[in-house]
Amino acid sequence: MLNFLKQVGDYAKETVQAAKYIGEGLSVTFDHMKRRPVTVQYPYEKLIPSERYRGRIHFEFDKCIACEVCVRVCPINLPVVDWTFDKKTKKKTLDHYSIDFGVCIFCGNCVEYCPTNCLSMTEEYELAAYDRHELNYDNVALGRLPYKVTDDPMVTPMRELAYLPKGVMDPHELPAGSRRAGKLPQEILEELEASKPAKAEEASES
Ligand code: SF4
Ligand code: SF4
Repeated sequence: MLNFLKQVGDYAKETVQAAKYIGEGLSVTFDHMKRRPVTVQYPYEKLIPSERYRGRIHFEFDKCIACEVCVRVCPINLPVVDWTFDKKTKKKTLDHYSIDFGVCIFCGNCVEYCPTNCLSMTEEYELAAYDRHELNYDNVALGRLPYKVTDDPMVTPMRELAYLPKGVMDPHELPAGSRRAGKLPQEILEELEASKPAKAEEASES
């Protein structure tokens, strides 16, 4: 009899444990039902990269003075600057320039230190290729401007959570062309310019 009661007790305990585990699992499911959808229907929908996104590098051939600073500051000495010395002008002439994006770590050092600002980081992140050698971009490929997500008629651009206006949690619900949170660099510059006379007045008064 005692043995039977012990078996019933064990069975009841296991049933309670199982119900507890099912409840825990379902609580996670119900919790996710309240959250915003994070699914992006790529490639029909694409997130707009953030402003300081470090994507594929853009290069302006005419601006480059072949100084090779980009090579020296690169942690892996990656950019290949091919130049010849022009004896008449006593200046370097750039022949070819290339960066291998199969090796580049997109640190942005070369862009930061280039004295003529001929390098810049774009928002292009789709660099997949069947052959890794195709990732070695020459100056022609580097000079191509990327197609913006917002300009592509085949794509629905979506904002990241960081760029959603205050209170909006679902990027799918955002009307096209609505104002994003935060200020554009141009707006910050304009504000700084506007505050300059006020600061100058304060300084002259003191
Ligand atoms: S640092 Fe700029 S200007 Fe100098 S070689 Fe590199 S890309 Fe050209
Ligand atoms: S982004 Fe960094 S790793 Fe890539 S070429 Fe420039 S300095 Fe080198």
